[in-house]
Amino acid sequence: MDRVDTIVVGAGIAGLTAARLLTRSGRRVVVLEARDRIGGRVWSVREGGVVTDLGASWIHGVDGSPVAAAAAAFGLRTAEFTVGGYQPYSRPIAYYGPSGVRLTDDEVERFVADIEAVDAELARVVADFAPGRSYGEAVESALAAQGWEAERAERVREYLRHRTEEQYGVWIDELDAHGLDDDAIDGDEVVFPDGYDALATHLATGLDIRPGHVVTAVRWSSGGVEVTAGHGVFRAKFTADRAVVTVPVGVLKSAEFGIEPPLPEPVAGALARLEMNAFEKVFLGFSSKFWDEEVYAVRQQGPNGVWWHSWYDLTAVHGVPTLLTFAAGPAAKRTRGWEREKIVDSVLGELRRLYGDRVEDPVGVHVTSWQDDPCSRGSYAYMTVGAAPEDHDLLATPVGGVLHLAGEATWTDDPATVNAALRSGHRAACDVLGRSVPIEDVWATG
Ligand SMILES: Cc1cc2nc3c(=O)[nH]c(=O)nc-3n(C[C@H](O)[C@H](O)[C@H](O)COP(=O)(O)OP(=O)(O)OC[C@H]3O[C@@H](n4cnc5c(N)ncnc54)[C@H](O)[C@@H]3O)c2cc1C
Repeated sequence: MDRVDTIVVGAGIAGLTAARLLTRSGRRVVVLEARDRIGGRVWSVREGGVVTDLGASWIHGVDGSPVAAAAAAFGLRTAEFTVGGYQPYSRPIAYYGPSGVRLTDDEVERFVADIEAVDAELARVVADFAPGRSYGEAVESALAAQGWEAERAERVREYLRHRTEEQYGVWIDELDAHGLDDDAIDGDEVVFPDGYDALATHLATGLDIRPGHVVTAVRWSSGGVEVTAGHGVFRAKFTADRAVVTVPVGVLKSAEFGIEPPLPEPVAGALARLEMNAFEKVFLGFSSKFWDEEVYAVRQQGPNGVWWHSWYDLTAVHGVPTLLTFAAGPAAKRTRGWEREKIVDSVLGELRRLYGDRVEDPVGVHVTSWQDDPCSRGSYAYMTVGAAPEDHDLLATPVGGVLHLAGEATWTDDPATVNAALRSGHRAACDVLGRSVPIEDVWATG
């Protein structure tokens, strides 16, 4: 094919954003996408009238969010669901104690106050920690400062473990102490009842996207880039002045994705310090609702909740009784490769402990396997012990003036989100153009 101005690798939110802005600025752009669909880790499936988001679901705080602005401009329907960031009580939650008995309102209030006390101390501890110490260490230090008896401290320790797992899909001792620095939610959280994928569909309008193009090699030099897609007789080469590569960190690190010459510093070091996590979704649809009314989520404390501790009530969003839970961190690693039925039975065992025979077998199930997907190799990246928050931005340092990495892992302020993907795509487009363009251009339709 002819040489184009820019090759974008990956048609997720970062790639589509960059391609859209570059195309709007008059550049010839081709987007190479390995899968037969666009959206990447934004993936909505539709079955029997029910829309299920297997990847991202939430905008974690609509205030100042470009994703929220884009959704509004594209006319996408959203629904408030402010429990996505593992907050202790942003909206009503039914908490069950270790014995399986629901906590009273007073008990919940005291538990939430305990979490807030530790969180305040934790912020001070983390601020004093240099990179190289784990979040687990910081939590222990903040708990010790409270001087509580063992059981009281254990409930909060367990809560903070679960928050680490649900937020970053990693065991608490494997995350750098600064790995949750970005964990702020501004404004309500919302989800997309008609599917998050509509965002990708709107961003993709009018772009030259080539699905089924698995990129295996990117060669860069001062003269430009050469990108190889496919193998053997199905191999195709594309050349351009610049490339924007938006594949996830797990793909960037894999032997199947070659970059020649190898990435220089500071990009290589930053990449080495970020890892893909283990985080899977389990959706259970039921013919009737058996759990507590007027709560957004159900949580169980204690040893029974080591894996399955939180269920989110998606009934209002899905239109049928549905619970969402996560296999996050150790649970996702241990259940990797399990048959779907075995995972569902394991989750149902815990629900039956709380609700007894009222828990019927589910009528609709989705279990994700992002860890085994060669195009993602996990759900999103986390900061290993020793990484610094700035490693995210360092990963986007332009290489040789021709190669630009973008994607959720390249945005320091709010990594691991759709917001980060969109903002990183915007930054990559500005870097390629050599000038700034307003972020509002991402959702401009004219
Ligand atoms: C289970 C789950 C839950 C999540 N929940 C939320 C949430 O609630 N809110 C939130 O904001 N974020 C959430 N996220 C994170 C969010 O989905 C991602 O941060 C964001 O979608 C990443 O976009 P991206 O463009 O950086 O990467 P991707 O979406 O991964 O796009 C990269 C693209 O590159 C393609 N690709 C990969 N390898 C190749 C190759 N060799 N050749 C060509 N193309 C290739 C992929 O197919 C993909 O389309 C979640 C993610 C998962 C998986």
